[in-house]
Amino acid sequence: MSKYINEVLASVKEKNANEKEFIQAVDEVLNSLKTVIEKNPSFEELSLLERLVEPERIITFRVPWIDDNNKVQVNRGYRIQFNGSIGPFKGGLRFHPSVNQSIMKFLAFEQIFKNALTGLPIGGGKGGSDFDPKGKSDMEIMRFCQSFMNELQRHIGHDLDVPAGDIGVGAREIGYLFGQYRKIKNTYEAGVLTGKGLDYGGSLARKEATGFGLIYFMREMLKENNLDLHGKTVTISGSGNVAIYAAQKAIEYGAKVVAMSDSNGCIYDDIGIDLSEIKRIKEVERLRIKEYLNNYPHAKYIENKKGKTPAVYTIKADIVLPCATQNDINLETAKLLVKNGVIAVGEGANMPTTIDAINYFLENNVLLAPAKAANAGGVATSALEMSQNSMRYSWSFEEVDKKLEGIMKNIFKSCKDTAKEYNLGTNYVASANIAGFKKISSAMMAQGVI
Ligand code: NDP
Repeated sequence: MSKYINEVLASVKEKNANEKEFIQAVDEVLNSLKTVIEKNPSFEELSLLERLVEPERIITFRVPWIDDNNKVQVNRGYRIQFNGSIGPFKGGLRFHPSVNQSIMKFLAFEQIFKNALTGLPIGGGKGGSDFDPKGKSDMEIMRFCQSFMNELQRHIGHDLDVPAGDIGVGAREIGYLFGQYRKIKNTYEAGVLTGKGLDYGGSLARKEATGFGLIYFMREMLKENNLDLHGKTVTISGSGNVAIYAAQKAIEYGAKVVAMSDSNGCIYDDIGIDLSEIKRIKEVERLRIKEYLNNYPHAKYIENKKGKTPAVYTIKADIVLPCATQNDINLETAKLLVKNGVIAVGEGANMPTTIDAINYFLENNVLLAPAKAANAGGVATSALEMSQNSMRYSWSFEEVDKKLEGIMKNIFKSCKDTAKEYNLGTNYVASANIAGFKKISSAMMAQGVI
């Protein structure tokens, strides 16, 4: 690594000592940039990396709300506006009890590169709260969302910062957030949030976009390496928005999805999972995944054990799609997957693989589709939703899906071409970081020291 990169990384570690996820995300990116940085001494002269790793703005706020027992609850809200050099800040909101500043910053940091890779004019941001939507009534969710928006509305806008969904934030939450924004602002600013319902400014294919996009990227990556999805066995960690639509597209391409999970455990159905049952359980009833066994008693349920490899990764598969949360695959899990013959891993979740696990996959010739590139279809389609809102017009499902497919093909091409240019072989993790960085650094240099 270059001396300059080492110095910046050391300073990030010192200044953000308690933020291990953020440090991990920065470490991974900076480690890929050596050649680019060495070729451009002006980056160091103008402290580009120091500016890149410091958010433009961090907003934290109190979110008081009243539960169904009339008790006042208080959560913490966040919005990280990390880098706005190529467009309005853009990135989802996560509602999960694990949310803290480190997780928000790592997500916002990765979003900068992901958004740059889409080729669309969107900057990097992220937000959320340590609120746990699990087990809450609809009215509690609504009151929380309204209180969250009471503060967030000061900091967002269709040309300023455009949040969307992430873990724990789907169409229901976006609806409540949008309603409160509209009431406070007294204006119909459709482009202020994405992931909206179809009746009030949402885009067709947004719900499917991250999962479909992941499989479009996977298809391109496999094709480049003389492989395809047909007949492959697939396991998927998670059973939320990204997992469900990745499964749908993988099945459409002839793969067999045999396992999916939630945070409690996984179901294993060796004849292939019936996705309509998963949709009923997760999207309609909001139940636990083990309910699958009620109608499919031949399937198995394996519970997760604390501190052990998540159950879903103990099942043999050709292709593994982590679509749940960060650091789901550590070195031990990576070793098990390689032993079980995995040929490709597609990161639907953000940073699902630890750095040592990434290196292990690469050393063992596993094709790795990195999150920043492979799950960019969601935010790309959010940008298409913003375009439709600006035009006061909407495209058909097929039109949006076609554009999404084109964007994912371009993202893979840019990973492939960059890998070639920098002699990286099939290390698309590094090439995605470099390709994203080139666009961001060029915009930041053009705009002066700000
Ligand atoms: P959802 O809330 O719809 O689903 C999350 C899924 O992951 C659930 O099955 C959940 O299980 C599981 N999960 C969450 N946290 C944990 C945990 N700590 N341990 C084990 N399982 C967990 O979220 P999404 O599908 O939207 O997001 C999944 C991932 O994809 C996240 O990393 C997100 O950042 C990333 N992503 C999402 C995009 C989008 O458009 N939605 C875009 C790009 C990336 P349970 O219900 O038991 O909690």
